[in-house]
Amino acid sequence: MSANDFKNLDTLAIHAGEDGVKYAGAVTAPIFQSATYLYGGESDYNEVKYTRLNNTPTHMMLNAKLAALEKAEDAIVTSSGMSAITTALLSIFERPGHLLTQSCLYGGTHYFLKNDFTRMGHSVTAVDVGDPSSWKAALRPETRAFYVESITNPLLEVADFEPILQFCRENGLISIIDNTIASPVNFNPIALGFDLAVHSCTKYLNGHSDIVAGCVVGSRKQVAPVVKKLNYLGGCLDAHACFLLNRGMKTLGLRVRQHNQNAQELARWLERQSFVKRVYYPGLESHVSHRNARKYLGGFGGMVSFEFKGDPREADGFMARLRLPKVAPSLGGVESLITRPTTTSHSGMSPAERKQIGISDELIRLSVGVEDLADLIADFTQAAT
Ligand code: PLP
Repeated sequence: MSANDFKNLDTLAIHAGEDGVKYAGAVTAPIFQSATYLYGGESDYNEVKYTRLNNTPTHMMLNAKLAALEKAEDAIVTSSGMSAITTALLSIFERPGHLLTQSCLYGGTHYFLKNDFTRMGHSVTAVDVGDPSSWKAALRPETRAFYVESITNPLLEVADFEPILQFCRENGLISIIDNTIASPVNFNPIALGFDLAVHSCTKYLNGHSDIVAGCVVGSRKQVAPVVKKLNYLGGCLDAHACFLLNRGMKTLGLRVRQHNQNAQELARWLERQSFVKRVYYPGLESHVSHRNARKYLGGFGGMVSFEFKGDPREADGFMARLRLPKVAPSLGGVESLITRPTTTSHSGMSPAERKQIGISDELIRLSVGVEDLADLIADFTQAAT
């Protein structure tokens, strides 16, 4: 029996993929710090053992673990979340085509689609994921894929995925989802029927804010062209970062369950505070996506956004007075991080684009860490007074 035959995430996060990489009695997988490997008679370029070709023992171990965590057949680890997203899209769009997307996307993805992707001759239509008639109206003969996020950044909305998947099946579209914010603990999109899922492993999968990494998961058939494209584009993960990602993933379940619990309690607390205009958290009954979140997610995640009652300068002053959450972009680490998306993750959007999707200048996005909840609440209280 292999470690991958077990079914539970906490077991797989520790053991999956590691059967073949234990050396000299070591119980942990070593760092294979070698760019190249002895030629073993391979006849296909993609099979030659070389770090850029994503097939070293560490890459194979990580790919197996990521696939197991996402209940998928296959996975490929990449040098960043953006490398996963761009490589997956470019592998689908080898000829000019048309992509449907959700209107609110991570800023980097939005920037790529609006600029480089469009300049390559592709077109993109942002649709209302809650309105299937807008998808039908946007469909063209050259439409090839539908791209969404499982929990959107920064308004934390959750779409009704089943109608989207049905629409994709009926129209021969590849369905892709960015599952970064939910993490495999709270949602497994491939098991629901998505063709491909991408992650920024920089976030919850690694969990310690000390590396940048990404991955693409799906069926063998869907992942194979992504691997080929990645082998040429070169977005491979370095051996040392591979080691850190594998180590970080071992505590994924423990961490994310604590993130979920802290975020839920903090969101409830924020709703009652006079310095807060509005709280966005899918686990709150007041959130526009609460019903979809209950339908699809096993937990509501560690991200909470809220509108500060005051102008952006006052919001920045409030954030600077916090002692535990650090003012920094990114998310998903054990430490709390706080940012105003207008100045960081969504600064690539024009003010009009931000306004259209509901991102105000007073919006604060909080990545709730796994610190003690009472300490977090005490810190927010002192910063507000
Ligand atoms: N997807 C989401 C939802 C993100 O929040 C981010 C980064 O913040 C990315 C993708 C890009 O990931 P990376 O920074 O690892 O390239």
